[in-house]
Amino acid sequence: MGEKIFIVEDERPISRLLQLTLEREGFKTATEMNGRRAFERILQEKYDLVLLDVMLPEMDGMEICKRVREVSDVPIIMLTARDEIPDKVEGLDLGANDYMTKPFATEELLARIRGTIRRHNEKIRASEETRYVVKNMILYPERYEVTVKGEPVELTHKEYALLKYLVENKRNVLSRDQILQQVWGYDFIGDTNVVDVYISYLRSKIDDRFGEKYIYTTRGVGYAIRD
Ligand code: CA
Repeated sequence: MGEKIFIVEDERPISRLLQLTLEREGFKTATEMNGRRAFERILQEKYDLVLLDVMLPEMDGMEICKRVREVSDVPIIMLTARDEIPDKVEGLDLGANDYMTKPFATEELLARIRGTIRRHNEKIRASEETRYVVKNMILYPERYEVTVKGEPVELTHKEYALLKYLVENKRNVLSRDQILQQVWGYDFIGDTNVVDVYISYLRSKIDDRFGEKYIYTTRGVGYAIRD
């Protein structure tokens, strides 16, 4: 909570009501009645969401929305007068995330605001997420997941660790000793054949299943994963 909502609305009673409602719910607020100033403030200040009325002095909400979208993906909910259907459609075309028709129920507005902020944050997280891509395979280290052509691949802990090590060193040929040290640990005592065995497990779950070559053998040296 504590997200900052910018209320752009030139009808003072509505603006005041929105402000009181949002602050009671734990949001921070800022208000603006003039369209042109609102546009400038959206570019200069940081808001988590903008509630944007359509009819405003000096610059209308549609124009603001369109211009803001050229430079920012701040979530915008348009506030339209009752039955202004063309406005709604146009608003969404211009890149608004949602719209509300006045007069609106407080609970619905709060739900829309929270939903819009949540979806926006999820989108940012997804775009920042680390991922390794090899051909049609994606490995998501934070999620401990691997997909090939969008289909999940079930791997054991060691298979996953081995694949991750190969993918992190894409194109490099890794020796059995290197792999043993990195994936099984320095104190692992055993036959380096364990590496060959696990490579064969990965090949059957990935290369064979999807009919595409990922894991290459360099005879006498080791293994590599390549695009
Ligand atoms: Ca207005």
